[in-house]
Amino acid sequence: AIGPVVQYRPQLPEVKVKKVKDTGAEWARLVTAVQSARLEIQLLHKQAVVQVGAGEAAIFEAHLLFLDDPDVLEAAKTHIESERINAEAAWQQTILATANRYRALEDAYMRARAADVEDVGQRVLGQLMDLERPSLNFRRPSILIAADLTPSDTARLDPKKVLGICTELGGATSHSAILARALGIPAIVGLGKQLETLAEGQTIAINGQQGRLWISPDDAQLTNLAEQRIAWLTEQRRVKTVAQQRAITKDKKYIEIAANIGGPNDAAIALEYGAEGVGLFRTEFLFMGRAEAPTEDEQVAAYVQAAKALGDKPVIIRTLDVGGDKPLPYIDQGKEENPFLGWRGIRFCLDETAVFKPQLRAILRASHQHKIKIMFPMVGALSELLAAKALVAEVKAELKKEKVAFDPNIQVGIMIEVPSAVAIADQLAKEADFFSIGTNDLTQYVMAADRGNARVAGLAQAFQPAVLRMIKLTVDAGHAANIWVGMCGELAGNPLATAMLVGLGLDELSMSAPAIPAVKAAVREITGYDAQRLAEQALQMASAEAVINLLQAHQ
Ligand code: PEP
Ligand code: MG
Repeated sequence: AIGPVVQYRPQLPEVKVKKVKDTGAEWARLVTAVQSARLEIQLLHKQAVVQVGAGEAAIFEAHLLFLDDPDVLEAAKTHIESERINAEAAWQQTILATANRYRALEDAYMRARAADVEDVGQRVLGQLMDLERPSLNFRRPSILIAADLTPSDTARLDPKKVLGICTELGGATSHSAILARALGIPAIVGLGKQLETLAEGQTIAINGQQGRLWISPDDAQLTNLAEQRIAWLTEQRRVKTVAQQRAITKDKKYIEIAANIGGPNDAAIALEYGAEGVGLFRTEFLFMGRAEAPTEDEQVAAYVQAAKALGDKPVIIRTLDVGGDKPLPYIDQGKEENPFLGWRGIRFCLDETAVFKPQLRAILRASHQHKIKIMFPMVGALSELLAAKALVAEVKAELKKEKVAFDPNIQVGIMIEVPSAVAIADQLAKEADFFSIGTNDLTQYVMAADRGNARVAGLAQAFQPAVLRMIKLTVDAGHAANIWVGMCGELAGNPLATAMLVGLGLDELSMSAPAIPAVKAAVREITGYDAQRLAEQALQMASAEAVINLLQAHQ
């Protein structure tokens, strides 16, 4: 960015300690201020969702949680009552102590949370003292200079007016930095006190990628930097715009490109990178890292949030895939000799219907007026699929009786990630609406090589001809039964593999969002015919290395 300096130096409110008689009234004032601050944050959250997407906007949900923290409110109340002081002073003491506790932590990410605490704290103080925040509406596009920016300040910025941001404090993991990144504003944080000396209106230049600041660039530097800026803007626009278009081969074969997500907050990012749907929603993250399973209603909320974010694009919700190496603290899974060959995925869920049925109910409830599909992980036998489908039917009947709406025609598919499923893919295809190949697990099971064991890493590669042949068998069985076949393992997001995967006949590829632009670009460079020839050659190769060499030669 190149532009004039605007110094943003809001005066922090000076809080005076006053003795009060009516501590009850002070407490009531604080409660009201917290309420108003909460409304402000909710509004800000809504704006931020639109501006930067739900993922980054989630910081304001964290701010709301902080205001709901009974310990914080209790501490402020104690200050008011025991010291008989005004609400402002009591609140400020509480905020300072909390922020300092964060600052003292070892973890850089947690230290950066001190700024969030102060941000929420200031907001409540602003309410108590009836303060207006200084305007961030600049007359002309400028580079914003500040000691530090709170996340709420950053979210108020208009990306059209703010060319760049430099702050004295802050780290790369502060939410201001994260929000600036999501807004696409070049920023440098932690530049130190020297920023104070920059004069209002003086032209400066910054390079956010390199973290460099030119305080008084000469003409040659300005020309050079302006060229870099134009190249960067053009590239940004190109990548994101092109990624929004569908991936179609030169001879007009359409390949659906979807994203893998771990929670509803990832949905917005998926769309930004050009996802045409969610091909794998890994629901286990909703169940892990907590003391008990999420309730049915909590799950409905998460699934609906993801589906709403995707609009009319489909969301494939994979049922719980825990067990083995992914334990749940609230369920005793016992100790297993071979966790990867143990009680996981659909095996676990079919036994633990107290966990599985609420999830199926939640997915079905969320499917009402949303494009949601169900997918079962780790299916290895026809009986498993039939039992899971019977449970879906049972849950549907229950919901119908309760007069709860759901999509009666919801599609039910399975992951193909166990070799036995490939062997009976023709039988499974008669009972499933779609297949999605999980190459991460399929590879380790086909090659009998633990993907976490470095000594067998050469074997545990999805480029092994044996794995590719399993993919081919799966696609053929699926297509023979007229169902579509996708892939959601890591191989789907590797652009080196794209042409081969198209040639193997995959209809859909689902991957981590940032991989989408490159994979879409790779699809557009091939014809179906060439892709098929390439796939046939790959299937005949003698090793994974030979497959990789072949694909590299065709890039
Ligand atoms: C896979 O196994 O390829 C897959 C997509 O599932 P996960 O990585 O969640 O086991
Ligand atoms: Mg898997």
